Amino acid sequence: MDCYVCGGNNNKVILDKQPIPIWTGGDDADVYRNNRIACKLLFCNSCGHVYQPREFVPAFLLNEIYQSNYAQASTDLGKGNWGIQRAKHVLDALGKIQFDNILEMGCGSGYLLKYLKSNFNIKIAEGIEPSLSETVYADGVMLHKGFAGKEFKLSKKFNLIYSNALFEHIADLHDLMSFIRSTLTNDGFLFFGVPNAEILIRSGDPNLFTHEHIHCFTKMSVQKLLEMNGFYIKQLIESHDALYVWACKGRSEKTDYALESIKLSEYQKKIDHILSKVTSVLSSSKIGIHGVNDALNNILGWGSLDQMSFKIFDNDETKYGKYYFGKKVMKPDMGSIKDIESILVTPQFYFNAIFRQYRNMNFDGQVQCVIEDIYDYV
Ligand SMILES: [Zn+2]
Repeated sequence: MDCYVCGGNNNKVILDKQPIPIWTGGDDADVYRNNRIACKLLFCNSCGHVYQPREFVPAFLLNEIYQSNYAQASTDLGKGNWGIQRAKHVLDALGKIQFDNILEMGCGSGYLLKYLKSNFNIKIAEGIEPSLSETVYADGVMLHKGFAGKEFKLSKKFNLIYSNALFEHIADLHDLMSFIRSTLTNDGFLFFGVPNAEILIRSGDPNLFTHEHIHCFTKMSVQKLLEMNGFYIKQLIESHDALYVWACKGRSEKTDYALESIKLSEYQKKIDHILSKVTSVLSSSKIGIHGVNDALNNILGWGSLDQMSFKIFDNDETKYGKYYFGKKVMKPDMGSIKDIESILVTPQFYFNAIFRQYRNMNFDGQVQCVIEDIYDYV
């Protein structure tokens, strides 16, 4: 399967796992979770891109999901405490907006657009989003129903086009770039945020894989994609879990993001190690797992562990009372954790904060992260 970015065929398999339910962020009532799809990731030796073979993830299924209530694989930006936290990360990377004419691709309910319009001097703010029921104009913002791509036409050009958590979902990235090229003014800026695959691979994080993410970007593959489409990187902000990219049309003299030493072949080995560790922990009783997310979906699916006995906790208030993996999500507090002896934490980047949270509740059992090599990320 040729690389989606550079078209090369010099690749190697870095993950190959059994079919598991597709993760949409939805609870057990989500019909899309009845689809079990194999999990495979390839690494392109030429441009450093990590991607899923196209035949594994049916495009019609993903397009149907993106037009449904399960369009966002994580909590919607701005919704509940976690949605607001997610939005804050993007707004921090965007900084002070000095453009008066902006377009967001994959804008969801328009939370970011409305926030930016009311906080900066922006004349025109528009968005494109497939899950809208129709095109709407509200709170000074125009939200178009549709998929960003070269078939989608807008009557004007913008001097900032941005997206968050979009590029990794788009099957044909060159089609998306072609839309951006024709819709961005010549001196305009493109901004986008994608998960930071290098850190996830290096640490063996199961969160690298989500069926909806056709692409896992490295700095090198971001650069290649932009170069092939007549853009260059103006600034690249690398946070612990994301790459935020500012790009412009044209070419830059200085480039070259080489791949740092990612031990690719060790990724699956690290995953297998995590699976045996979690299997061993879950064989004891009175276990709580903190973090209901795609990493947990992968661990339970790949290890066939969803029938094991454990309780699940999360800090995302939109999940409380809902059922995932046949278990009810609870808020961790003195009452809900009183019978728990050990906590396994799935999100590595929030481990230290979550650890402190349990200690502050006077929980004196073991609190450990599913990932072995924890970085100090707090
Ligand atoms: Zn490639």
